[in-house]
Amino acid sequence: MSSEISKAVLLAAIFLGVIYGSRILEKRWPIADVSRAEFRDDWLAVIVSVGLEHMLAPIAAISAGAIMSYAGVGWIALPTEGYWWFVSLAIVVVALDLYKYTFHRLQHAIPFLWAMHSFHHSANGITFITGARHFWLERVLSDAFLPVLAILFRIPPEMAIAAAFIFFVPDACAHLNIRIPLGRFVTWINNPQWHRIHHSIHPEHRDKNFAAFFPLLDILFGTAWVPKPDEYPATGLVPAERVDIINSVIWPIRHLRQGQSKNEPG
Ligand SMILES: [Zn+2]
Ligand SMILES: [Zn+2]
Repeated sequence: MSSEISKAVLLAAIFLGVIYGSRILEKRWPIADVSRAEFRDDWLAVIVSVGLEHMLAPIAAISAGAIMSYAGVGWIALPTEGYWWFVSLAIVVVALDLYKYTFHRLQHAIPFLWAMHSFHHSANGITFITGARHFWLERVLSDAFLPVLAILFRIPPEMAIAAAFIFFVPDACAHLNIRIPLGRFVTWINNPQWHRIHHSIHPEHRDKNFAAFFPLLDILFGTAWVPKPDEYPATGLVPAERVDIINSVIWPIRHLRQGQSKNEPG
């Protein structure tokens, strides 16, 4: 029991350290000014969404378990002997990226999915924690119904952890409010400037730069917008919207509350 507690304390310390460290860098080399109100809204949105996901996690786990026992897991056993371990890891990362890219495009193309995904895009000021801002029901539904990788691949748990960690870097860090001049490397791996185009308010940036890891996917599938060195557009929905606790819970039907306007995909 005490080792459980010390593990939890260690995780919490790492978590707070990462958040605090990102905050220092964001203040030092910001892309854009993020107001206190925007920052507070973002935290509120994240807390509501992560909180509700965790409350409903047992239900999602029952559903995912039922789907996996019906479909079977580990259809493809990836080799793990010697250097094959790294080849298999690369296969998992590429498959995960393709899956995320496809799902993300559907989130913009299908109104039912956009109604939820627009919660992520409603962040007016983007910072590190915007990466965790997703509508709670979207999280629960994807936890419950899309255990795709577990069904597809049989891999050792430490490889799954390695893949998750590798993904954390470009995917979560894409929301850092940090100016990183990458020059021509901007198309090599997802980064704050590449992903900022995806959140842009400008019509020419609409439905561009979906990639979570490799911008190459956007280039291959015709959704790339290669930013110019100084291209850091303003971000958010058009017209801008704000979240509060109630909107964070009822986001897709928020316009039924008085005076709220509906948004189209952007
Ligand atoms: Zn999006
Ligand atoms: Zn984003």
